[in-house]
Amino acid sequence: MTESEKFPQPLSGMVVPRFGDIATFMRLPLFRDPAAVEIGLIGVPWDGGTTNRPGARHGPRQMRDQSTLMRRVHHVTGVAPYRLARCGDLGDTPVNPADLDDSLVRIKAFFDKVHAAGTVPLSAGGDHLITLPILRAIATGGPLGMVHFDAHSDTWDTYFGGYKYTHGTPFRRAIEEGLLDSKRVVQIGIRGSLYNADDMRWAYDQGIRVIGIEEYYELGVEKVIAEARRVVGDKPTYVSFDVDGLDPVYAPGTGTPEVGGFSTHEAQRMLRGLRGLDLVGGDVVEVSPPFDPSGNTALVGATMMWEILCLLSEVVARRKGRTDS
Ligand code: MN
Ligand code: MN
Repeated sequence: MTESEKFPQPLSGMVVPRFGDIATFMRLPLFRDPAAVEIGLIGVPWDGGTTNRPGARHGPRQMRDQSTLMRRVHHVTGVAPYRLARCGDLGDTPVNPADLDDSLVRIKAFFDKVHAAGTVPLSAGGDHLITLPILRAIATGGPLGMVHFDAHSDTWDTYFGGYKYTHGTPFRRAIEEGLLDSKRVVQIGIRGSLYNADDMRWAYDQGIRVIGIEEYYELGVEKVIAEARRVVGDKPTYVSFDVDGLDPVYAPGTGTPEVGGFSTHEAQRMLRGLRGLDLVGGDVVEVSPPFDPSGNTALVGATMMWEILCLLSEVVARRKGRTDS
């Protein structure tokens, strides 16, 4: 028996139909000890940072459900993540829907344990503020780079008279706290109307590479991938995928939709373009099921998680010196 045959495997759709049994992420076994896996799929059912349309607290539940549509082998790259790495569903982080500050503490404490176990997190939000406590837990070895897909820069300063923590501010806070290296951050798909003409000034001043949607379409997917890889380089990098980076025709169930975004297929190609980078974790956020009763936005979110999982499994396999694929 090879090492990989002992790894946790998803429930097979050839044995138990995919609409059956309990919906975990990718139909993987559920573990409560992060040390049991090398890649942990984690739900963060919390939307207390949302400034407009709520509902992302329901994202993890519906993404688990839709993730049962994912199979075992990537159809383009051939990557078989469950042969490359020990993967499992680690359940949801504790949250406090009545208290934002307490939620940030609880979420970070969960990811502290994941990080201490050496486990790579792949998370399902939740609104985009959840990425801040995740970064607080995992950026222990110095500031990280980040490939950030989004319609919004999420580098606003304060809302509602000096309030510093919303889903519009996580990356301003993360850079201020030294969790991200602004020179190694690339934001792809940025668009939408602004509160003030100089809303993006701070991001530019920090040296963030902002690829607005107009430049994105001028460059095309391949050049955007090349630029993203140039910016983050070969040092540790996080991937954060806000589904509102997609055009709302593909992902209407989200808190702050902005028309004129990239397509699901383009997003998949961009994620595949990140193969070989030193990725330390990722998330898919802002899936708000109440705004998409069809469930398609959650399917899109689960599919982006699958793409990121395939990337992370190759990183873990490289780190462990495994060649099986
Ligand atoms: Mn965002
Ligand atoms: Mn956004």
